[in-house]
Amino acid sequence: MLIAADKLTTLVERIFITSGASAAFAQEVATHLVAANLKGHDSHGIGMTPAYVHNIRTDLLKVAAEAKVIKDNGAVLVVDGQFGFGQVVGRQAMDIAIDRVQTTGVVCMGVRNCHHLGRIGTYAEHCAEAGLVSIHLVNVVGHDPQVSPWGGRDRRMTTNPFTCAVPRKDAPPVVLDMATSAVALGKVRVAYNAGTEVAEGALVDHEGAPTTNPAVMYEEPFGALGPFGKHKGYGLAVMCELLGGALAGEWTAQPENHRSHHIVNHMFSCVVDPAAFGGLDKFQYEVDAMVDYLHSTTPAKGFDKVRVPGEPERDSMADRMANGIPIDDNTWAGVMGAAEVVGLNEADINTLLE
Ligand code: NAD
Repeated sequence: MLIAADKLTTLVERIFITSGASAAFAQEVATHLVAANLKGHDSHGIGMTPAYVHNIRTDLLKVAAEAKVIKDNGAVLVVDGQFGFGQVVGRQAMDIAIDRVQTTGVVCMGVRNCHHLGRIGTYAEHCAEAGLVSIHLVNVVGHDPQVSPWGGRDRRMTTNPFTCAVPRKDAPPVVLDMATSAVALGKVRVAYNAGTEVAEGALVDHEGAPTTNPAVMYEEPFGALGPFGKHKGYGLAVMCELLGGALAGEWTAQPENHRSHHIVNHMFSCVVDPAAFGGLDKFQYEVDAMVDYLHSTTPAKGFDKVRVPGEPERDSMADRMANGIPIDDNTWAGVMGAAEVVGLNEADINTLLE
């Protein structure tokens, strides 16, 4: 089915308000999730709602928690998300960095103990809107690992995203925002829900043999998701684990640490004011000239044009704003189940969707 973004936002917002969140926080989380759908990342869209509702009801996700500064050394900050909605505490942490960087030029920040931060590109885009460059390395803990190291078949990490955005003066930013697994786990979940296959090279079964069947991540005997880009993607995932997990969060995926149904993100963020480097005009000129140069590349066979990172999301957003967001039946059933669990009945839901 195709659903308009505003209707989905209203529904998901209501589910979180009924779960005990304030109207403002519920709106921020719902807007973030629907924006992920709009940008083509259904893995981080409204399909996360049942997991969030589960974690609210088991007190793993604290609906009223806010970001708290626990260390302030000027350009070095540590912020504790106190297991609040990642979408809220992550944005609050970025607001603190955006404010601080005006005097320090650069901020290195550890953002720890956030319930699922969702689409990390959101935080990089928030910094870019303020004219700032940012880099984010994130790990994911609180549950069993799903991603195997390069050369292994056992699960040792999760999908550890890496994100970097560069602002442009009169154009949208360049935003690289990616899981370091061969595909985001949520995309395997979307394929599993939709009864489709996952691209070759992403999954191995329990014997370490390549497979395209997403069931290996959800049904025993379990397989694993591999890293993207062989040893290089694996290496980047390790750095997300060490900087996001060990440095920022003091909590990596190693087995002495607590695991349950939790979804905890720790994020190492570096926020940079390009003006602090001195040549702001030249920086902006070079970024634009380089993007133009990349765009001028003759497309290879099978490609319509060359894009820079961030463009596929904008293309998707334009399409889905105009035509609606496609939601598969299982994902919809999950959201309806979450609505029911929090006490919304069919009539309430139909009214919200009118
Ligand atoms: P993806 O593979 O769809 O895209 C990765 C990057 O490549 C994007 O920046 C995109 O703009 C760029 N890209 C894609 N096609 C391109 C092309 N043709 N030309 C130029 N650039 C192109 O993304 P993904 O790896 O599946 O990650 C999906 C989302 O999952 C991300 O938003 C990430 O933050 C999120 N994520 C979150 C968590 C978490 O724990 N919170 C964990 C993993 C992933």
